[in-house]
Amino acid sequence: SRNLIIAANWKLNKGPADAAAFLDAFCVVAKDFKGTADIVLAPSFLTIPSVVTKLDGCDRIAVASQNVSEQESGAFTGEVSTCMLKEVGVQYVILGHSERRSIYGESDALINAKVKKTLAAGLKPIFCIGETLAEREGGKLESVLTTQITDGLKDVADLSDVVIAYEPVWAIGTGVTASAEQAQDTHKFVRSVIANLYGQSAADAVRIQYGGSVKPANAAELLGQPDIDGALVGGAALEAESFFGILENS
Ligand code: 13P
Repeated sequence: SRNLIIAANWKLNKGPADAAAFLDAFCVVAKDFKGTADIVLAPSFLTIPSVVTKLDGCDRIAVASQNVSEQESGAFTGEVSTCMLKEVGVQYVILGHSERRSIYGESDALINAKVKKTLAAGLKPIFCIGETLAEREGGKLESVLTTQITDGLKDVADLSDVVIAYEPVWAIGTGVTASAEQAQDTHKFVRSVIANLYGQSAADAVRIQYGGSVKPANAAELLGQPDIDGALVGGAALEAESFFGILENS
C-alpha cells in the first residue's frame, strides 16, 4: 500500500542545458509509462527553476533540492532558504546525504534543524541515513542507524511528510550494491526503529528508499523487497534511458 518513490539525485551535475536535454530524452522514453511510482528529480539549486519550467503541466514528476539552509533569512552567505525553494516550485528536500555528512561535516543536530525547517515550510524531507563499511564490519550498523534516526528526527512529531532514504555509504558510487537481502534486512530494521519511536502504523506508512549503485539491472530485485519503497539514484539517473530503465523495473 506504500506507493514507490523513485528519485534522481543529480548531485553536482547538469546545468540548465544538460537538464533540458535530459528532460527532452526522458519525455520520449517515458511517454507511454503506465507505472504509478512517484518520480522525483533533484537538480542543483541553480538548475531547479529551469527544470520546474520545463516540467510545467507534468504533475507526474516532482522536483527536489539536494539541501537547504536551516536558517530562515538574513546574513548567511551562500545559503538557500525553504521559502525560496517553495517559491520556485520545489516539493522535496534531500537532507543528510552521506556526502553532506562526510564532506561538509553536517551533524545529526544540523540535519535535524534542516528537517524541521523543511517540514515547517510545507516541504517534504527525503531524510538520508547510512553506515560506512567500517561501521558495518565493526558491528555498529544498528547503533549508527538508530542514532541517525533518533537525533535526525528529534522533535519531529509526525512522519507523514517524511521519506527516509537508506544509503549504505559503501554502496554509493562504488558499483557495489547491497544485496537485496542485506538491503531488505536493514530496511526492516529501520522500520522497527521508526515503530519504536512513532508506533506501528506510522512505521507501516513511512516510505524507505534504498540508495547506492541502483541501476536498471538490479532495480527489480531491490524494489521487490517488502520493506523497500523506492530508490534514490545517483549515477544511473544521469542518463534518461537508464533512469527510465529503473522506473520500468519498479
Ligand atoms: P549512486 O547511485 O551513484 O551510487 O549514488 C547513490 C546516491 O548517493 C543517491 O543519493
